[in-house]
Parts: sequence; structure tokens; C-alpha cells
Amino acid sequence: MVGRPLKKIQCESYTRGSKFTKQCLCKGYLKKSGFYRCKFHGGASTGPKSLEGRIKALRNLNFLKNKTEEEVQQWIKSKITEVSYRKKLSTK
Ligand SMILES: [Zn+2]
Repeated sequence: MVGRPLKKIQCESYTRGSKFTKQCLCKGYLKKSGFYRCKFHGGASTGPKSLEGRIKALRNLNFLKNKTEEEVQQWIKSKITEVSYRKKLSTK
């Protein structure tokens, strides 16, 4: 085991794979709620960032399954609202 296992604070949630009988083994961080949660259970994930990743993820949806990459790209562009577009511009 890597690191300092005796000092490690585990994530307090239970895994779905074990039908909520086994505790998650990841390193936990203290949340505002007072519970220790890992990066997977703490809501830290922001989803796919790059365009390729977003297309790959959206391809799993039924109504985009048989579309080409360009059609999926157009669908993503149609979903981007003006507000989120301005946010993107301001961050760059
Ligand atoms: Zn966890």
C-alpha cells in the first residue's frame, strides 16, 4: 500500500457494486456536511471537458447513437446557451 495507511481517512460512503455493504476504500476529504467523502462520492467530478470526451459520452445516449460526429457536435452547439458561451469567453 502506498503512502501512510495508518493516517489515511477513508471515504465514509458505501459502494454501489457491493449493494451498499462495503465501505469505499478511497482517501476521504472533509466536506462541509461533516462527512468524509472521496473524489468520486464528493461530487467533485465535472464530467468530460474536451469536445472529444463530450462526444464520446453523448454517443452512449440512444438518440445520438447512430449520428455522425459532426451531427453530435452540432447538437452540442445548439445546447450551449448564450450565458454559458459568455462564461467561456470570460474565463479565456
Ligand atoms: Zn468514496
